[in-house]
Amino acid sequence: MIAPETAFDRLCAALRRAGKVVRTNRPGQVMAQCPAHDDQRPSLSVKAIEGQVLLYCFANCHVDDVLARLGLTTRDLFDDREGVTYAYDDGRKVHRSWDKRFRQSGTTNGHRTTLYRATKVAAANKAGETIYVAEGEKDVHALESLGVTATTAPMGAANWSKVDPWPLYGAAKVVAIVHRDEAGQKWAAAVREMFTGHVDQLDFRQAKTGNDAADHIAAGHTLDELEPVPDLGPLELAPNVVSAIGQVFAGVTVDSAARANGCTIAELTAALRVSGAREIEPTSEWDSVDLLGAEFREAPDILDGVVPVGVALLSAAPNVGKTRLLTQLSVAAVRGAPILGRQTTKTRVLTLALEDGARRYRKALTEQVGTSWPNRGQLTIRTTSKRLNEGGLVEIERHLDRHAECGLVIIDVLERVRPRSTGTNAYRLDYEALAPLQRMANVRQIAIVVVHHANQRADVADIFEKVSGTSGLTGVVDSLLLLQRRRGDNVGRLSVSGREVEDQEIALSFTDGWWGPASEGMPAALLDEKREVRELWLWLADNEGASTADLAKQYGRTENATLKVLRRLEERELIDSLGTPAKGRPVCWQVVRNVS
Ligand SMILES: [Zn+2]
Repeated sequence: MIAPETAFDRLCAALRRAGKVVRTNRPGQVMAQCPAHDDQRPSLSVKAIEGQVLLYCFANCHVDDVLARLGLTTRDLFDDREGVTYAYDDGRKVHRSWDKRFRQSGTTNGHRTTLYRATKVAAANKAGETIYVAEGEKDVHALESLGVTATTAPMGAANWSKVDPWPLYGAAKVVAIVHRDEAGQKWAAAVREMFTGHVDQLDFRQAKTGNDAADHIAAGHTLDELEPVPDLGPLELAPNVVSAIGQVFAGVTVDSAARANGCTIAELTAALRVSGAREIEPTSEWDSVDLLGAEFREAPDILDGVVPVGVALLSAAPNVGKTRLLTQLSVAAVRGAPILGRQTTKTRVLTLALEDGARRYRKALTEQVGTSWPNRGQLTIRTTSKRLNEGGLVEIERHLDRHAECGLVIIDVLERVRPRSTGTNAYRLDYEALAPLQRMANVRQIAIVVVHHANQRADVADIFEKVSGTSGLTGVVDSLLLLQRRRGDNVGRLSVSGREVEDQEIALSFTDGWWGPASEGMPAALLDEKREVRELWLWLADNEGASTADLAKQYGRTENATLKVLRRLEERELIDSLGTPAKGRPVCWQVVRNVS
């Protein structure tokens, strides 16, 4: 069987017959001497797209003139000289005649039409690729000749609103290519309305040359050369919607914020997804009437009193055991089991373990869960992430869209996801990274634990000081955690402060690499003491009323040396002497326990 002649072959053959130079650029594309003007160097672009050929003369000769000089007609631009047939995935067929008349066959019923290339579009969406939306099938074929995924709706731009947009929902980036005419502007408005809030990024572009994508591509332009469309930015948010969004970011329920600001819940929900909404500041000034009327969301803490809904920033020096603590928190939250002597709220978890490889994380996880594995879908571990401002945030949002029950996201560590440093100060970068996370946490009512890695031990306290002090970070962090442990020590301390939790110091034990609650009643203040002193205190806790001599024996020092330590502990209100001993009687001691 002989392959049917394509329009491209036909044009090339005709040009050669007419004695014109024909230079092949790449398969399916040539530059030739134009037969319609005195062409010294080849300036006629001939490009094959599916079903037809695109012609463009850089001296602006009309296509009809070019064809006439070659003894061809408009029909010759099509592989099938009758025209081209566009086959939709649902069985619809659109026939475009050589003289631009349309008719349809196949599946043409139903209120909803299907996107052209719907299956391919869904796959590209899943893969996170940019998808181009055009006004007609010819544009789609032209775009496809450049290797990208493109789509349109049947029956022209005016029928756009009838198409089922679902395969494009959730797409990372959609670029709509708008015709340079009035119908194009109307089409763009319909596209904007349909996809605002449903795709992560929606851009509008127009041809650099000619009217449409096919003209632009026929002229040999790349997709980077598409031009922005004036007066067609992202959808403007109405002032009442902006006010409602600010309240939601401040913790008010969507329901209550919509009611208070006179917009519908659907309107507000869609607006919250618009990329511009992320820039809106949480409401920080209230009329008392509005504040009293607002309903705040009341979600339980993920870790009682330590990790509330919102962003928790965990600072720790290297090798303190923070990754272990987070592995324990992940597993406990997945099971709804207590950890560090505190309750957790059962939830699914996404962990960005960016400092560990999968192998290392598996080792820690195996030690933690033994044979009692979590169920599939309960705990997701990602070992890489883009920077938050370069798609990382979108990746997290997408995970949360797919896993509605995920209520805890752990980011270990902040340095790996915050905006790249360009000489700006680190706190500003941290703020820029944490602010969108804080909004996301509030809108979705989830907890996000972000690890701040300090390289120097001194830095840790410094960060805590700065964050809890005057820096802007307090505005975007709901809970501040500082994990400290001396090298080789078997106890540690978790300091907690913030707007949504009570300031407290939690004493922890660190045994065989795992964190647990410290011995019952052990005051956090004792953590400042050396290990031997703590052990002395713990022994006394079990032997109330022991004398200085008993304690000296236990401590392994002289009575004098021991008494010095005991007096110090007494001053710190960690122990008490029992009554006032009579002259010549030994002093006896008891511990002071946490009153809670
Ligand atoms: Zn020409």
